[in-house]
Amino acid sequence: MVKQIIDEVVKRNPGEVEFHQAVTEVVESVAPVLEKHPEYKQAKILERICEPERQLMFRVPWVDDSGKVQVNRGFRIEFNSAIGPYKGGLRFHPSVYLGIIKFLGFEQIFKNSLTTLPMGGGKGGADFDPKGKSDGEVMRFCQSFMSELFRHIGPDTDVPAGDIGVGGREIGFMYGMYKKLRNEFTGVLTGKGLDWGGSLVRTEATGYGLIYFLLEMLKDMGKDIKGSTVVSSGSGNVSIYAIQKCQELGAKVVACSDSNGYIYDKDGINLKTVKQLKEVERKRIKEYLKYHPKATYEEGCDNIWKVKCDIALPNATQNEIDKKSAEKLVENGVWAVAEGANMPSTPEAIKVFQKAKVGFGPAKAANAGGVATSGLEMSQNSQRLSWTFEETDKYLNRIMKAIYKQSKEAAIEYGQEGNLVVGANIAGFLKVARSMYAQGIV
Ligand code: NDP
Repeated sequence: MVKQIIDEVVKRNPGEVEFHQAVTEVVESVAPVLEKHPEYKQAKILERICEPERQLMFRVPWVDDSGKVQVNRGFRIEFNSAIGPYKGGLRFHPSVYLGIIKFLGFEQIFKNSLTTLPMGGGKGGADFDPKGKSDGEVMRFCQSFMSELFRHIGPDTDVPAGDIGVGGREIGFMYGMYKKLRNEFTGVLTGKGLDWGGSLVRTEATGYGLIYFLLEMLKDMGKDIKGSTVVSSGSGNVSIYAIQKCQELGAKVVACSDSNGYIYDKDGINLKTVKQLKEVERKRIKEYLKYHPKATYEEGCDNIWKVKCDIALPNATQNEIDKKSAEKLVENGVWAVAEGANMPSTPEAIKVFQKAKVGFGPAKAANAGGVATSGLEMSQNSQRLSWTFEETDKYLNRIMKAIYKQSKEAAIEYGQEGNLVVGANIAGFLKVARSMYAQGIV
């Protein structure tokens, strides 16, 4: 039956390889659940979960600074609303196509379910590259994008957020346009500025949450983050705040990257410099060497996994660790891998880690802190209140601990102790399956 479902998904969604990869992992993991629950099999819960409830694709025309008309393609996949309004980020990157958004939206269903909060799964974006564009160009693009998206979203329907290429600046431009078109001030996007409905900790949440999850994993492994050596790929939102938390806890982070290459600083990365370069000046990571000449830079992102470390944090993009990189990490003695990016390890790489008994925290569980805090932003918007940093951070920590516990316990219940990939998939799936079953064939 597993093969049949996967084959059908591949046939119905030709060429969408990332989506096939995400579906295959989940379907294979949850097969034992269906054996225990024939009613889910009969109600075709899994087949229905693999088909998005709604898929939107639209034209996004805009005018660049030289007066030329540009045309991009926008997407929003409203994947599953069994446990709450659709929720998931928007990605602006030239590699975006339907298959990427569908893989991300599909993963989001289970991730959101794990957070313990009432959020369904969705994802969106565009094949637009904000890199090298002026603020005016980014604004015109965001306004055009929202002039179509606004009719499909709402605080109780679908609440987008940021992802690769979509940070505070883009959320601001999109929120402004939504508010103008709808004439209402509601919590329709998360990741908003603190002066206009945003939540404290949202910026730090994915990176911090990743480390809170990692700490739970390390506790069970009898290891300490203090004094460990860490490599964190990427130098965007997730990577920066994961590095910050690692440093706070006494780990040494020696390498990070961008899509051109990576820097290595044996004395530990200076995060202040990385933040200035990436968050303020929007420059390339190799400029780090201007301020820290003893550090080194190498072109190409894959090579970062050759750097010897105890803990590896893939925080850039999908499929960034392949089998060869995983083997190199194991050879160099890595003890733990926690995924901040979505699906950063290929299935072959995961097998290498599991065989070598490396602690492995899968993205769905380990990086759920971002969307969880988006959920907390929605709660604050509904209450028309703002919580303190400490309160929100404590809540995030509690959620990450709960995600770890659910994943660990589900793995044990289904006879796969220590396999958090299977555990997270099963725990996330069960809540959605129960809800879909209760709501009938819709
Ligand atoms: P950002 O855009 O802030 O940063 C992404 C970083 O990864 C940049 O350093 C970027 O380099 C690098 N990168 C992007 N694409 C590639 C590529 N194809 N090859 C190598 N490096 C690449 O995004 P985020 O930090 O927000 O997101 C990173 C990952 O985390 C994504 O997988 C995202 O889906 C996931 N995630 C993000 C959450 C969030 O709250 N932001 C929540 C959960 C998951 P460059 O600057 O050169 O493009």
